Amino acid sequence: MLKLNSDEVNKAAELIKAGGTVAFPTETVYGLGADALNPFAVEKIFKAKNRPPDNPLIVHVSSKDMLRIVARDIPETAFRLMDSFWPGPLTLILKRTDVVPDITTGGLDTIAVRMPANELALAFIREAGVPIAAPSANTSGRPSPTKAEHVIKDMDGRIDALILGEDSRIGMESTVLDLTVTPPALLRPGGLSLEEIIECIGEVMTVNVSGKSPGMRYTHYSPETKLVLVEGKSSIVPAEINRLVNDYREAGLKVGVIITRESSEHIDCDAKFIIGSVNNLKEVAGRLFSGLRFLDEAEVDIGIVEGTFPEIKEGRAIMNRLRKAAGENIVYST
Ligand code: AMP
Ligand code: MG
Repeated sequence: MLKLNSDEVNKAAELIKAGGTVAFPTETVYGLGADALNPFAVEKIFKAKNRPPDNPLIVHVSSKDMLRIVARDIPETAFRLMDSFWPGPLTLILKRTDVVPDITTGGLDTIAVRMPANELALAFIREAGVPIAAPSANTSGRPSPTKAEHVIKDMDGRIDALILGEDSRIGMESTVLDLTVTPPALLRPGGLSLEEIIECIGEVMTVNVSGKSPGMRYTHYSPETKLVLVEGKSSIVPAEINRLVNDYREAGLKVGVIITRESSEHIDCDAKFIIGSVNNLKEVAGRLFSGLRFLDEAEVDIGIVEGTFPEIKEGRAIMNRLRKAAGENIVYST
């Protein structure tokens, strides 16, 4: 894997034009890119990530003209959202054009599109001159990469190049909004809050829609270490976490805990990761994936994560990712 500096974006673009795969920084997470219109290039993404073929990719564009290559019948609502939130962490589901190969959309007649808010990413797409399909640059099922080192850990030897950039500013994947239905439907909470979308366009549907987004069916975001999520009131959860730590330790296990700054001093464990303040959901969203990866680095036998975040604004995406990462291992303390 070539490691490219920010002044070598042209080399990255050449690799894309030649049908290669390049990981690159965005404000949400690092993406693994290939020419969205070249089925052989896109196939390499699925191989490198070991991603199920029916899980479609988000296509990244650097202009509205480029958007029109891949999407058709774009509704007025889309333009209102783009004017407010692009470039930024909002992915729109639109009807697709015929030039998009089936593999990019997992065979769907719709396409997911976004314009990333990262200068390197935009320069890279512009220079490549083609829309770039890019899921997160992690092995399928693992926590998304928010630092170049996360990409190196998962993808070295599996892709052509990585553009070295800053840590992802937001650190949480984009919000996915389906504009092919009325009212628009939230398919995945993410870096842009539902509240901001509603303020812009009014009504949004939020229930019983995850079946429409193939990616939401799979296990996601999981560290290799077994993870237990403890949900409940912040006044009770730290004590419950300590109780669990003691139980696991008595069974001879080494325990890691991902905890808020406020609860941190009450916790006694083998390795601790402070995820941020309960009063700063943006900070928590941005550190979440590093926290999940920390458990593997700390080589603990089991990880416990505090799940006391209110499901408003960034909290909606935070709790969504934590629940998926923990799978069935959720403790409710009331
Ligand atoms: P990722 O890029 O891995 O963070 O995931 C992209 C997300 O967008 C997944 O949850 C996909 O299922 C979803 N997605 C991509 N294309 C479509 C589409 N055409 N319709 C519905 N969901 C989509
Ligand atoms: Mg992903």
